[in-house]
Amino acid sequence: MFDLATRDIKYISGVGPQKATILNKELEIYSLHDLLYYFPYKYVDRSRIYYIQEIDGNMPYIQLKGKILGFETFGEGRQRRLTAHFSDGTGGVDLVWFQGIKYILQKYKLHEEYIIFGKPSVFNGRINVAHPDIDKADELKLSTVGLQPYYNTTEKMKRCFLNSHAIEKMMTTVIQQIQEPLAETLSPKILADHHLMPLTEALRNIHFPASPDLLRRAEYRLKFEELFYVQLNILRYAKDRQRRYRGYVFEKVGNVFNTFYTQNLPFQLTGAQKRVLKEIRNDVGSGRQMNRLLQGDVGSGKTLVALMSMLLALDNGYQACMMAPTEILANQHYETIKELLFGMDIRVELLTGSVKGKKRQAILSGLLTGEVRILIGTHAVIEDTVNFSSLGFVVIDEQHRFGVAQRARLWNKNTQPPHVLVMTATPIPRTLAMTLYGDLDVSVIDELPPGRKPIATIHQFDNRRETLYRSVHKQIEEGRQVYIVYPLIKESEKIDLKNLEEGYQYIQEEFHKYTVCKVHGKMKSAEKDAQMQLFVSGEAKIMVATTVIEVGVNVPNASVMIIENAERFGLSQLHQLRGRVGRGAEQSYCILVTNYKLTEDTRKRLEIMVRTNDGFEIAEADLKLRGPGDLEGTQQSGVAFDLKIADIARDGQLLQYVRSIAEDIVEHDPMAQQPENEILWRQLKTLRKSNVNWAAIS
Ligand code: ADP
Ligand code: MG
Repeated sequence: MFDLATRDIKYISGVGPQKATILNKELEIYSLHDLLYYFPYKYVDRSRIYYIQEIDGNMPYIQLKGKILGFETFGEGRQRRLTAHFSDGTGGVDLVWFQGIKYILQKYKLHEEYIIFGKPSVFNGRINVAHPDIDKADELKLSTVGLQPYYNTTEKMKRCFLNSHAIEKMMTTVIQQIQEPLAETLSPKILADHHLMPLTEALRNIHFPASPDLLRRAEYRLKFEELFYVQLNILRYAKDRQRRYRGYVFEKVGNVFNTFYTQNLPFQLTGAQKRVLKEIRNDVGSGRQMNRLLQGDVGSGKTLVALMSMLLALDNGYQACMMAPTEILANQHYETIKELLFGMDIRVELLTGSVKGKKRQAILSGLLTGEVRILIGTHAVIEDTVNFSSLGFVVIDEQHRFGVAQRARLWNKNTQPPHVLVMTATPIPRTLAMTLYGDLDVSVIDELPPGRKPIATIHQFDNRRETLYRSVHKQIEEGRQVYIVYPLIKESEKIDLKNLEEGYQYIQEEFHKYTVCKVHGKMKSAEKDAQMQLFVSGEAKIMVATTVIEVGVNVPNASVMIIENAERFGLSQLHQLRGRVGRGAEQSYCILVTNYKLTEDTRKRLEIMVRTNDGFEIAEADLKLRGPGDLEGTQQSGVAFDLKIADIARDGQLLQYVRSIAEDIVEHDPMAQQPENEILWRQLKTLRKSNVNWAAIS
């Protein structure tokens, strides 16, 4: 059979070694297979031919049929351009070239009938079309085909005449060479059950659609397949893991949990907290090893759920561990948990990079004897020197800072992997969660503790600073604290830090009555902690900071968040920042300060922020506005978003549909050995081999 994957593109007629190298480098296209899976990004309807008398300079791409009456060149050297006077009997336009003039003069003849295609514009009162596509009228069969494919190309490619048209030509050649059908990549059953177009036909129609309807069916088949294998891969991996590892069984709810619940818990659990606890209890009682993602908006009470799950572990004779992304957060969790467990005889320890010497030794040996029952810390807890007597439950806070590999390292801390609860406050839309963390079960806390006043969010232009500062003064006089955040992005780090410093000085003058502290990522950690402490203790009334405060810091008395240059933040980031306020009983405010000139996109982002406090709604909107590649956390997650045709934001429904199909297959064929699925398992193996990121999770 014709093997696309091994046939090098340099053997396509008209390609050759030089162009092949460019295709390798620019698009990672090596084989005919790679080329065929380079899909058009749009199609232009070429079924209609216009008359010159109908057109003007404002039209999109159009095609004309006529003859070249004469050539003229103008200018010298780099200014040189070639004009062809083109007429169809109803009028004339100029075709213009700035490059490749010699080639054009050789290639196109006077008085021959051509179909030209391009974008008309007006220059010196005449309509012209620059660098049009030209085909001989009797050779172009496009009037029956209609839709013409357009391919993305790079500057380098264009310089070597590898434009969209050239790719289209290569594609034509390759498709003509396919005499017999290509090996199918989906099973006959799936094709039949879901009415999918066969692969070869789909590939033909995705490049050269015979009709809009066939294009839609080709797209559907290819998207289906792409998303299906992403899901099959993740689910297969999860199934294997489930088969290979047993989970510790937490049989009972004992003294520790009950004492906490009846004596220490300072409030009623919310319905959502109860539900999630029940889900976790089911998992840890089942004999399977739990891998659960707990999503909940900032302030929804995830920490409490985590703590109570850890207490279940203790009741069953296991130790528990909680890992946070920064020292400050680890500290905060430690303090919170110590306080919540007050009066109960449970040894809780904190292990971070700055715990050294005797203290560290004491903790390490306490872990080995089992006297230390809860360990809280940073990355320090996954170091090889940290060993437990019997670790049964692990909580990872703020998942997006930990990779899949780090999660896996925790598994080796006991003979069987402990149960893992991953918490994130960056709400991830369902479809994205399925792709990113498809191997985890998902719990959601979708309810805030009672009595929270929704944060009031206001968008303000930066020329109204006086009014703004007046209300800040008022808030401070009433005893509140205030965050003022400046953007910090890598490319303009120096300028940003300067802005922060200037802002800091300005604020210090404006609020000279009060202590103002300052925190940014470039500070030494001791200095940062000291500044942070000023704010936590309430001595400093204002904290000027970059986004380092984004994650987790909890100062309930802080009720105002001012975000400067809010236009430079992404939606999720704005929402995370806003989550730093609204933690106490007072009405909180988030002020988004921007400059007057805003793009349409920015305006939309700000509107969403002002309209809603719902992290999930915001995450969905963010996904639609920016696309998944940009979402925070996706880069480190280990799953690359090199989807060729499907779109997580738009194809959410299809994703859920194919996931259920993949679930069914994994469920009924857990050992991957049923003949009717043979094609699927073989294809999955091929994909895992050819895609580094897929292999990483398997
Ligand atoms: P998250 O980690 O989800 O951002 P936290 O667990 O830090 O949220 O909880 C935020 C605040 O809400 C904490 O001060 C916590 O004590 C409080 N809280 C948690 N659950 C409840 C509840 N059911 N009722 C009232 N307050 C709660
Ligand atoms: Mg938290």
